[in-house]
Amino acid sequence: MTTTSPDIQQIVDAVRARRRFVLSSHSRPDGDSIGSQLAMAYALRALGKEATVVNADPAAPPLMAFPGVPDIRIAPRADGEFDAAIIMECGDLARTGVAGLERFFLINIDHHQGNTGFGQINWFDARAAACAEMVYDVVRALGVPLSKEIATHIYLAILTDTGSFHYSNISPRTFDISRECLEAGVDPVLVARNVFDSNSLGRLRLFGAVLGAMQIDQTGRIAIIFVDHEMARVAGGTYDDTEGLVNLPLTVKEIEAVVFFKQEKGDEYRVSLRSKGDVDVNAIAKTFGGGGHKNASGCTVTGAIEELQKTLVGRIEGAFDGRPARR
Ligand code: 5GP
Repeated sequence: MTTTSPDIQQIVDAVRARRRFVLSSHSRPDGDSIGSQLAMAYALRALGKEATVVNADPAAPPLMAFPGVPDIRIAPRADGEFDAAIIMECGDLARTGVAGLERFFLINIDHHQGNTGFGQINWFDARAAACAEMVYDVVRALGVPLSKEIATHIYLAILTDTGSFHYSNISPRTFDISRECLEAGVDPVLVARNVFDSNSLGRLRLFGAVLGAMQIDQTGRIAIIFVDHEMARVAGGTYDDTEGLVNLPLTVKEIEAVVFFKQEKGDEYRVSLRSKGDVDVNAIAKTFGGGGHKNASGCTVTGAIEELQKTLVGRIEGAFDGRPARR
């Protein structure tokens, strides 16, 4: 079940010819970033190579339980001497938030639409449900056995990046790889508990506050949610605690898209867009300088919140394009 495409072979050759690797991914790393990087790190070490993972931001608290996470170096710069940088799950080198990576031979492995192809080697596959599916291929092509540590990180990445096997890029391969991970010793109950059942009270209260203030657009198909630092403070949570919150309105049958505004500073907002079905929120995020995937994307916008809401909701309503609501 391993695909040794020319892209993978190039990566394998480049890895075999080098010894010291720095690994990175996008800032505010999610489960796929953490899982992909750590699976790769363990595989490189199994080959006797040096692997240092450098991220701009720490992993969210539920991910801290995974082996290897405490060893991730949190730094704004990739200091040290390395023979290559492997960047995973990151559409653009600047999105790592880690300076200095461009000094090294760059291997870019990603499944995001619109990846800028910043590497000396670029392997891009938008069909992968998680970047870790691609990392799995590299691990196999390198001839590294699927240890429990590698499998745990690959499974973590797949579980989270598919939204617990909800999203549209899931393929038979997703389950084949997951099956192999379980055969390698992964405990799916433990992984799910670590990821989903480790909330703090502040996180739950913050979910309550944000969802309590949720608005629905005139079509009844779009949910609009909002958080600012004051709401987080009052709830006893942090912005990190909002991880996953954007997906909840989609559990309402009639809701087909969600716009989540997170106030950064003043009139600057991080926007997370989610959809189910045909609405392509990536196309919308891209027009605001952001990106992501068809059903999950993000961007940063600046302006009066009422106007921003109107604009984004209007764009999503436009994307419905006369299509009747899902029933
Ligand atoms: P989130 O809403 O969870 O921050 O991001 C959803 C998806 O969109 C992720 O795959 C993330 O990497 C991508 N994404 C979020 N913000 C941006 C952005 O500003 N630019 C690009 N290119 N992708 C983004």
